[in-house]
Amino acid sequence: MSEGQAAAIRLVGLRKEFHGTPPVVAVDDVDLVVGGGEFFSMLGPSGSGKTTVLRMIAGFEAPTAGRVELAGADVTALPPHRRDVNTVFQDYALFPHLSVRDNVEYGLRVKGVDKAQARTRAMAELERVRLADLAERRPAQLSGGQRQRVALARALVNRPQVLLLDEPLGALDLKLREQMQVELKAIQREVGITFLFVTHDQEEALTLSDRIAVFNAGRIEQVGTAREVYESPATGFVAGFVGTSNMLTAAAAQAVVGTDGAFAIRPEKIHLTLPGVSAEPGSVRTRGTIAEVVYAGPVTRYVVDLAAGGRLTALEQNGHRTAADGLVRGAEVDLYWAAQHLISIPTT
Ligand code: ATP
Repeated sequence: MSEGQAAAIRLVGLRKEFHGTPPVVAVDDVDLVVGGGEFFSMLGPSGSGKTTVLRMIAGFEAPTAGRVELAGADVTALPPHRRDVNTVFQDYALFPHLSVRDNVEYGLRVKGVDKAQARTRAMAELERVRLADLAERRPAQLSGGQRQRVALARALVNRPQVLLLDEPLGALDLKLREQMQVELKAIQREVGITFLFVTHDQEEALTLSDRIAVFNAGRIEQVGTAREVYESPATGFVAGFVGTSNMLTAAAAQAVVGTDGAFAIRPEKIHLTLPGVSAEPGSVRTRGTIAEVVYAGPVTRYVVDLAAGGRLTALEQNGHRTAADGLVRGAEVDLYWAAQHLISIPTT
């Protein structure tokens, strides 16, 4: 974002309480700035407040406190239709009785765009998502991935400043999901609209996003690029949620590294070798017993109980020989890794 240019989305002290029994603080003092044209993801476990934040930006939910700004204007008190945003929901919310084309045209017609122009624009959007040849079908006659693309075309046809996407790929199987991730990213790059994307899938967030906000219990724990949240998690929660949870507790860290404080270490940075066999000089080394060997195609996961206490997972690539070949449950091993890969976790 260049200086002087207003943020696409700015949240200031945003809070939402639901008055039930017991009352729930769904969103707790959230500050966030999303720049124009960013692909920004809100990542967090179920119930961490992501959808509620999205609904407050769209105007479906009123904040208990705080402010929502879009392109520099305070929209907190405006109804949804007065905000320059569109939402793609997980269930797509298509009109079942309308054709694909009429579904996409609908928003334009409501806005008073004349029939001929609305049709041209709807067809152009369906071309973009490669569905022009299915324009006459009803949603029920489409596959999940095709329905998802209709929902996207319908949201994009209005050319909103901001597109809000609430787990839009959640209903798709893994293969289609991965394919749609690539398409979604390409479409976002092409139209240049700000995408605010909600997901609880860390791999999806890492793959798609320019930046990610990691949510936990209604608060943001960290905002950063995929590389930043993965390689330099700000908290123990982020280290565990983004990537495999692999923590050296304070006691184990004292025994293994000789320092106080907890550390995280990514499984792919850990190597296995037979006890006593020399490893790369300068590496951190510790003994353990293999508790689990999980073959997963391209990689094998080794879960190792450390003699110093705690348990670490190591990942070895398959397809080339490593010292771990042939190691089975119950075997004694040495784990080693380069000291620079230890991620110090602040204790808060
Ligand atoms: P998911 O990934 O499951 O969609 P989320 O991170 O989007 O989760 P929210 O849907 O924002 O989480 O919910 C946050 C919290 O607020 C949860 O504890 C939820 O039960 C609660 N909550 C959400 N909507 C309401 C409501 N209308 N009334 C009462 N509590 C609600």
